[in-house]
Amino acid sequence: MDLWYTERHTDDVKFSIRVDRQLASYTSEFQRIDIFESKEFGRILTLDGYLMVTQKDEYIYHEMITHVPMATNPDIKNVLVVGGGDGGTVRELCRYKSIENIDMVEIDEMVVKLCKEYIPSISCALDDERVHIYYEDGMRFVRTTEDSKYDLIIVDSTDPFGVGEGLFTKEFYGNCYRSLNDNGILVNQHESTFYDSYANSMKRAHSRIKEFFSTALVYQAHIPTYPSGHWLFGFASKKYDPRTDLHADWWNSLGLKTRYYNTVLHTGCFAIPNNVRDVLRETK
Ligand code: SAM
Repeated sequence: MDLWYTERHTDDVKFSIRVDRQLASYTSEFQRIDIFESKEFGRILTLDGYLMVTQKDEYIYHEMITHVPMATNPDIKNVLVVGGGDGGTVRELCRYKSIENIDMVEIDEMVVKLCKEYIPSISCALDDERVHIYYEDGMRFVRTTEDSKYDLIIVDSTDPFGVGEGLFTKEFYGNCYRSLNDNGILVNQHESTFYDSYANSMKRAHSRIKEFFSTALVYQAHIPTYPSGHWLFGFASKKYDPRTDLHADWWNSLGLKTRYYNTVLHTGCFAIPNNVRDVLRETK
């Protein structure tokens, strides 16, 4: 018997992975959560049918969303992760002894529970003593955070519809700006420009972030299981330019073993191709 997981990337494009079995399926208050086992990609987490992470390529996303800001400011000590219930971003952050506190605000406790049970290779650091998990809407959470509390905010969200919608609004970015100190950095998963619907979300998010932050850039990575395989991250800061403020010697002295990120790629990933540059120019 042939079992396939299929995600619709556009009305005319589908992406499929053969799966061996479904390990879990649960409908929470917020979304449907599924975990599959596959030969090519290992375990796969989907939310409302959309692929979130696979064991085979998750390291690319999680290394890029974490090490780019960390190598830009070695003094990052207090971090907020918004979303990220699979635990991959927290796992990468926990590799830094210099980080003292990680608050993670995840709307759906069931994502965390199921990832702990079925994908420990990703969720393995969620019980680190520096990690504090709050189960609530990230948009509400940042409304009441203290001013200047965090050095880094990482928005590891779903796409801008359903429960994730609020994490792409002007109100949310404004509260992130307020919650960051003068050295603060905001990194977010920034969609992609190849397919129109994702490009439109990306443009909207980018122009909203630009309204608050003096530096608002995007950087790229090749993520095989995301729509088009080409994915963007937003890097916004009150002070730092990641291309010139890279602390390569410091980062390399840590001896962290990574499979995608390195300090040469750090600068290179901000060299965006013309097709992305042209879409960004269309933003206000
Ligand atoms: N790497 C993924 C991607 O870009 O496809 C993101 C994965 S991570 C599992 C996204 C998480 O964000 C989910 O667990 C989801 O429950 C959480 N999330 C969505 N909307 C949220 C909100 N408003 N507040 C907090 N967490 C939210």
